[in-house]
Amino acid sequence: IDVTIKSVGCVGVCNKVPLIDVVDEKGEITRYPNVKPEEIKEILHYHFKPGSLLKRLKNNLFNRVDTYHTDLTWNNVIWKPENERTGVINSFLSEQIHIATEGYGYLAPLNLEEYMGHGGFNALKKVVSEYRPNEVVKTVLESGLRGRGGGGFPTGKKWEMVATSTSPEKYVICNGDEGDPGAFMDRMILESYPFRVIEGMLIAGYATGANKGVFYIRAEYPLAVKRIRAALEFCREKNLLGKNIAGTNFSFDIEIFEGAGAFVCGEETALIASIEGERGFPKQRPPYPAVAGLNGLPTLVNNVETLSQLSFIINKGLNKYLKIGTDNSKGTKVFALAGKIKNGGLIEVPMGITLNQIIEDIGGGVEGGEKLKAVQIGGPSGGCIPANLCDVQVDFDAFNQMGAMMGSGGLVVLSEKDCMVDMARYFLSFTCEQSCGKCTFCRVGIRRMLDILDRLCSGNAVMEDIDKLEELAINVKKSSLCGLGKTAPNPVLTTLKYFRSEYEEHVQGLC
Ligand code: SF4
Repeated sequence: IDVTIKSVGCVGVCNKVPLIDVVDEKGEITRYPNVKPEEIKEILHYHFKPGSLLKRLKNNLFNRVDTYHTDLTWNNVIWKPENERTGVINSFLSEQIHIATEGYGYLAPLNLEEYMGHGGFNALKKVVSEYRPNEVVKTVLESGLRGRGGGGFPTGKKWEMVATSTSPEKYVICNGDEGDPGAFMDRMILESYPFRVIEGMLIAGYATGANKGVFYIRAEYPLAVKRIRAALEFCREKNLLGKNIAGTNFSFDIEIFEGAGAFVCGEETALIASIEGERGFPKQRPPYPAVAGLNGLPTLVNNVETLSQLSFIINKGLNKYLKIGTDNSKGTKVFALAGKIKNGGLIEVPMGITLNQIIEDIGGGVEGGEKLKAVQIGGPSGGCIPANLCDVQVDFDAFNQMGAMMGSGGLVVLSEKDCMVDMARYFLSFTCEQSCGKCTFCRVGIRRMLDILDRLCSGNAVMEDIDKLEELAINVKKSSLCGLGKTAPNPVLTTLKYFRSEYEEHVQGLC
C-alpha cells in the first residue's frame, strides 16, 4: 500500500495512546485509540482494501473510533469546528484551545519546512521587520502575559527591565528545569514544538536587545535536549539563528545547558549559578537577574510555556489574545491532568475555565464513579482546592486567594478515597529532599514539619502537633529565602484549612 507514515508531537491524550490517525484523500481523519500491534493490519485493510475484514473491525475496533473532518488534505490539515467532532477523544480535545501546543497531532517536531508552512517564524520575521524593540515589549506588556513557570509575574515587566538596560551584552534564558512530581508540560512542549520555543526566544532577544540565549534543560529529558539541539541546527542552516537573522541587523545565537536535576534550580538565581558552574544555590534578590544575572549581565529568564505563547500574540494580534482568559490572567495554561480521572493527559485550556469543567468535560469525571474530594494544583508548591470550591476559574489570583497557586501546571484529581494528610506528606517529603539547605527555616523547618506528618500518618501524634505543624508552616513560608521554601508549606496549609478534621481523625485513630 502506498501510504505515508508520519510521526507527530504529543496529542495530549496520554491514556489513549498509541493513536493512529488515518487521513484519506478527502481530508477525512479516522482516529484509533489504544491500538494494539495485531490490530494495525485490520485498520489498514479497512481503509485501503475496502470490504475485507470489515465485520471483524466493526466488532473489535469501531466502538472506540473517532472521526474527524478536515478542510484540506494531509499537508495542510485544518480542523473543522468542534461541533463536527464526535467521541471521547473529541470531547477531551474540543474544550481546549491550543496556543503553546498549536499543531498538536499533525506537526512533525523537527520538520522546519512544515512549521514554516503553517506560519512558523512569521512572528519573528514580523517583529524584526515591522516593530522597534520597545514596541514588542509594549505589545507583551499589553497582552497581560504572565510567567507560566509558577509565580505568574507579568512577562512584559521583566522584558522592560532587561530592555531598558544599556549593557551591550544581555542574555535570554529559557527555563526548562521542570521538576515537580507528575509535571511534564515543559518536556512535552520542548519535545513536540521545539521551533515554537526557539521562535519565542528569538522574539524575546530582539525585544530586550540580547544577543545570546541559553536553553536550560534538565538532563533527565534526553529527547527534549536532542530535539532542541537538532532544531537549533536546522535554524542555523536557514539563517534563523546566528548573524544577521533573515537579512536584518539582528544577531542572536542559542546554546544548550543540561541541568543535573535539582528542583531548586528552577529558581532563577540558582539556575544562573548552575550555568556559571557554581552550586545551585538561590541568591538574595535584589539585584534581580534582569539587572545582574548570568555573568553579571542583564538576563531575561522565561519559562518554556511562556515563550510558546509569543508567536500567537504577534501573529494573531493583541485583540484575539486579550479575548482569551480572565481580566488578570490572559491566554491559555497547559496542565498535566492526572490522579483519579477517567481521561488523563496533557491539556491546554483557556484561562477562565473552571476546575469542574476541566474535570467533567475534558477529563470525563472521576475514575471509577468515585466522588470528587479535591484537586491538588501546582504540585509541591501549590495547594489543595476542595470539591465544593472547584467552580473556581483557572486564574493566577483566584488560586492565590484560596491559598493554592497555579504553579507550573500539575493538576491531580483526588477522590473520596484519598487521604489528604498522606497527600500533604507526600509533597512535603519531596520538598524536604530538594531543599538546598541554605536557610534554616526551609532546611530545618520542613524537616520538623515532615516529622509531625510522619507521626500523624503512623498514629503517634497528639492534638497539639496539629497546631505546631500549622505554626511551623506559617513561619517557613514567611522566612525562607526562595520560592521553594516559601511555597513548600502550601499543601499542608491548604489541607489544614479545608480538611482539618482529617488531621484530627488521624490523632483520634479514626483513620
Ligand atoms: Fe534553599 Fe530552601 Fe532557602 Fe530556597 S528556601 S534557598 S531551597 S534552603
